[in-house]
Amino acid sequence: MTAIEFKNVVFSYSEDGGTENNIEPAVKELSLTIEQGEFIALCGHNGSGKSTVARLMNGLLTPKSGEVLAFGESTQNKKKIYDIRKDVGMIFQNPDNQMIATIVEDDIAFGPENIGLPREEIGKRIDFALGAVDMLEFKQASPYKLSGGQKQRIAIAGVLAVKPKVLVLDESTAMLDPKGRREIFDVIKSLNKEGMTIILITHYMDEAALFDRIIVLDNGKLAMDGTPKEVFARQTELAEIGLKLPRATKLNSYFKENGLDLGEVLSTDELMEKICQLK
Ligand code: ADP
Ligand code: MG
Repeated sequence: MTAIEFKNVVFSYSEDGGTENNIEPAVKELSLTIEQGEFIALCGHNGSGKSTVARLMNGLLTPKSGEVLAFGESTQNKKKIYDIRKDVGMIFQNPDNQMIATIVEDDIAFGPENIGLPREEIGKRIDFALGAVDMLEFKQASPYKLSGGQKQRIAIAGVLAVKPKVLVLDESTAMLDPKGRREIFDVIKSLNKEGMTIILITHYMDEAALFDRIIVLDNGKLAMDGTPKEVFARQTELAEIGLKLPRATKLNSYFKENGLDLGEVLSTDELMEKICQLK
């Protein structure tokens, strides 16, 4: 099943489409298809259009021309926008801006309350969502006392409580330390195993390496779309559009040039493992 489809999408932040003020569109003639259950990293340097693309996915923004479909429904169809927002959940960079209540449980309840679920079901959703991010014991905690990684897990739980089919994380791990990033990665990986489509926006290529598919944007256009192996093979082009190779890939090609061929390596964990196996 197709989850999200972009058909020749153009989006501009200026009303006149950019002609008058000479502002280029933020997204230009973008076409792509995302199937339900995919595990995708969306990459690109600052200003390449990642957040705009994310907001187009659930109708927070609508195209100036072309079309965005979520589960076959156009995001321009006002009658469907409610369902689309429910199906395509979105998490942003700063968890503090996403917390509103003084108790974790109340924060998670916000989404389910908003879609008018009965009280008993809301209780079930809270437990389900907190369980999924491994934060059940923090149900009564104050969000302000949690670590960055924990806050971001609560923010994810808030979206999960509405049971979306797609989860888009817009640089949600950027402010976290490596441990916090790992925590979030483990959560989204297990959600994906249960069938949820995951789209993580990141400019860390080390992080992108852990996904099945990498979509690279440059200047509002689709620059690359493939497996990590395919994308990282295009080293020169990546450098030209301001993206660095993952550390593991760089180290691995350095080893190879110097006579140590460890085969394909995508993450530092994998690289460490292979080095440790050397006699
Ligand atoms: P990214 O998330 O990859 O950094 P964005 O989607 O935020 O990129 O931005 C794409 C382009 O749109 C940039 O040129 C940016 O300056 C512009 N832009 C983003 N948000 C706005 C806005 N609210 N108003 C006007 N221009 C914007
Ligand atoms: Mg952004």
